[in-house]
Amino acid sequence: MRDLLIRNGNLLLSAAAETLVSADILIRDGRIAQITAGITADGPVLDVGGDIVVPGLINAHLHSPGNFMRGTLEGLPLEVFMLYEVPPIASGAEDPAEVRIRTLLGAAEMLKLGITSVMDDAFFVPLTQTTTIDAIAGAYADSGMRATLALDQPIVVEYEKYPFLADLLPDDIRQSMDTAPRETAAGMLAHYDHLITRWHGAADGRIAAAVSCSAAQRATPDYLHSLHALAKTHDLPFFCHVLETKLQRVLGDVKYGMSLVRYLDSLGILDAHMLVIHAIWIDEADMAILGASGATVAHNPVCNLRLGSGVMPFRALRDAGVPICLGTDEAVSDDSHNLWGAIKLAGIVHAIAGGSDYAGWPKAAEILSALWDGGARAMRRPEPLGRIEVGAAADLAVLDHTAPGFLPLHDIRRALVLCEAGRAVRHTIVDGCVVVRDGHLTTVDEDQLRADLARIEPRLRTEAVALRDGAARLEPYYRQMVERAAATDVGFTRWVGR
Ligand SMILES: [Zn+2]
Repeated sequence: MRDLLIRNGNLLLSAAAETLVSADILIRDGRIAQITAGITADGPVLDVGGDIVVPGLINAHLHSPGNFMRGTLEGLPLEVFMLYEVPPIASGAEDPAEVRIRTLLGAAEMLKLGITSVMDDAFFVPLTQTTTIDAIAGAYADSGMRATLALDQPIVVEYEKYPFLADLLPDDIRQSMDTAPRETAAGMLAHYDHLITRWHGAADGRIAAAVSCSAAQRATPDYLHSLHALAKTHDLPFFCHVLETKLQRVLGDVKYGMSLVRYLDSLGILDAHMLVIHAIWIDEADMAILGASGATVAHNPVCNLRLGSGVMPFRALRDAGVPICLGTDEAVSDDSHNLWGAIKLAGIVHAIAGGSDYAGWPKAAEILSALWDGGARAMRRPEPLGRIEVGAAADLAVLDHTAPGFLPLHDIRRALVLCEAGRAVRHTIVDGCVVVRDGHLTTVDEDQLRADLARIEPRLRTEAVALRDGAARLEPYYRQMVERAAATDVGFTRWVGR
């Protein structure tokens, strides 16, 4: 049932709205049909009794395959961290039933936090399988969430993704990397054919496909061009991690003789389809290129601090005309799906730039605009998202107006960015369906989900220890690589407080 009348709401219509308005919302066929006080209509009714109704939150960057790994690691730089997250010498195959549990856990957590949309850049260890694609997309479809799914799978040998590493590694490890299972461009394009044919537009349009190269240095130029062509043909987002770390800045100089932003631009694939993930170690010229490209940057401030990547130049990017959206990135680098935490951190971390230019520190409205307007732009959906207006998708979060963050309520936008942490979410509506009612999922049997997890949890802990052992063997070489990159002068820094 995608028809609903929401009665007695206090609505924040968009990031640009300054105050709440008291009104009802009539939803027909998953879209907002009418917004006014005193609507009478047949069909199901949700009386929210004066609660605050906001557009559903948009998590613009996530890797759901990290969902089982929350809290497994202390802080590590990205390149060392990835040894645990996506071990470069892995074998075996993922179990689709466990992949479903893993995906549902994240979807359930997000929906209960009022996050109605997610862009999941899913990786597969070691190889992509049709059954695991179906498990992820099927879990999102069944959860009631609006989800865009891409396949984040490198196709080059591990040591080719990094500067210095090939020379640092002993022969036997390099050979293990050469022979480790690895996807090909042709294989991945066949998987994309399946993803798009089977899932793009599924579940009344809630499920959609995106393409992902993971990062430019993890793909070949031919593969990048093929993904870009797919993005253009089907109007899909194109996910690409770009200059997340200083090491990646050094890699661009060493391997391509230019920054990775300029490299993407030189290939002709940097356009409005692209979701540029992180964009921390960008310089002024990169920002100008990004601003002219129409691409959106996904800002994941919790992950960036957790992995010591540095601080994205928020104000300079905005001044260059670059749209920004917000994400949690991963349950092993956040370590939650609580986008509210990323919202608050995005709202305050950029003051770390300091100086007298405090007028340039982000304002609450700007952060909410990134959340809703930036997220909607990055999603590239046919229906308007991130706003409460006639014709928009009926994706809404209903917040308890008596929750501590709203007592007293001085300014709704600052309350949402600075005071609320997600605990106030009472109901979540996606596509006109009440998927969370009074804090409980209506779509997923949470007791069963917890029981399913409990059955495999001992083995997950054992596997996490085994991952540590495998990574420990490789870590010394990666540490040397990270140290060498850190010591390289790139002409600017995104680290602070040193
Ligand atoms: Zn990511």
